[in-house]
Amino acid sequence: MAEVRLENVSKIFNERIKAVDEVSLTIHDKEFMVLVGPSGCGKSTTLRMVAGLEEISAGKIFIDDDLVNDIPPKDRDIAMVFQNYALYPHMTVFENMAFGLKLRKFRKEEIKSRVEETGDILGLQDLLDRRPKELSGGQRQRVAVGRAIVRKPKVFLFDEPLSNLDAKLRVQMRVEISKLHQKLEATMIYVTHDQVEAMTMGDRITVMKDGIIHQVESPANLYAKPVNKFVAGFIGSPAMNFFSGELVENGTILFKNKSFEIQIPGHLSKNLIKEKGKKIVLGVRPEDFSMQSSEKEEYNSIEALVEVIEPMGSENYLYLRTDDQNFIIRTVPSINVKINDQIKLYINLENIHLFDEKSSASLISLL
Ligand code: ATP
Repeated sequence: MAEVRLENVSKIFNERIKAVDEVSLTIHDKEFMVLVGPSGCGKSTTLRMVAGLEEISAGKIFIDDDLVNDIPPKDRDIAMVFQNYALYPHMTVFENMAFGLKLRKFRKEEIKSRVEETGDILGLQDLLDRRPKELSGGQRQRVAVGRAIVRKPKVFLFDEPLSNLDAKLRVQMRVEISKLHQKLEATMIYVTHDQVEAMTMGDRITVMKDGIIHQVESPANLYAKPVNKFVAGFIGSPAMNFFSGELVENGTILFKNKSFEIQIPGHLSKNLIKEKGKKIVLGVRPEDFSMQSSEKEEYNSIEALVEVIEPMGSENYLYLRTDDQNFIIRTVPSINVKINDQIKLYINLENIHLFDEKSSASLISLL
């Protein structure tokens, strides 16, 4: 059992740089929690505070029921895998993995059995006698993970462990780490700036920006119900499209801007009457446009110019323009459009997002 709990944790560097600002977060036993956010958002600092590599300026960190604020890293029963995995070049794979156990004065037989067991788990059995320079990038990263596993820690911490690998290997290792999580049933905290890694690996995802947590949710809920415009734009690729406009009442509630107007679905409009006249940002994901309408109303459509077509194989991305706005949609590859075509699109109204332009908060995620 290993739960990690942060209570109002802050980190201030040099008495002025607030890297982490009153973060409160519970990572449950056996959970795979991803911390994600743009560069400088404070995710690595948060992880390093859990590891004990960075002093905490304020707040408390618990591992299970133990307050670990003043406990040195080696006594926290955690293992960390870094982006720069820094294996010892003069040692074999076996020796690299055994090193931490030797330092902790484990018996020889215990070390051998743990390293061999870990080698089996990670598919390194045939490489135990090789030195790091005789390994591929993915194999080296696996040894770095192995070094963490042999210790059987309560909690694993990963800091962008895949960012030095090429794209294909990254996908492979992503799957391997997910499988490892299932096999070891360990608590894992994983830092990345890559939202695809976050979405594919996390049981839950914590989205951070400017040292603050914006949302903690499962991947599916984060995608469907982002609490603000930042989260909505950060999660999803290609990113959500945003259109500025306002809410007006004309028998029903409409979102209106220079280029188009759409009718807000009934179940949302009741709650939005009070927002009438406000400056609003409409959010529509690239997959929520279609060229065929199941509805007859003309005003739920957008006319747009096709500027670029990107064929991705399984789908196409179309880069489009209305009067004052660029946006992007996903379509099936067989779609019959050409550059410079003027096309008419319909928005899937069930999946729209609306944000207050001033505060960026979602007006519908909590309805
Ligand atoms: P990245 O993805 O670029 O690694 P991050 O989200 O992990 O970014 P942190 O490394 O946690 O961000 O940094 C958060 C903030 O704290 C940044 O503004 C950074 O410049 C600052 N910072 C980090 N380490 C130090 C330090 N040792 N001294 C001063 N400022 C620091």
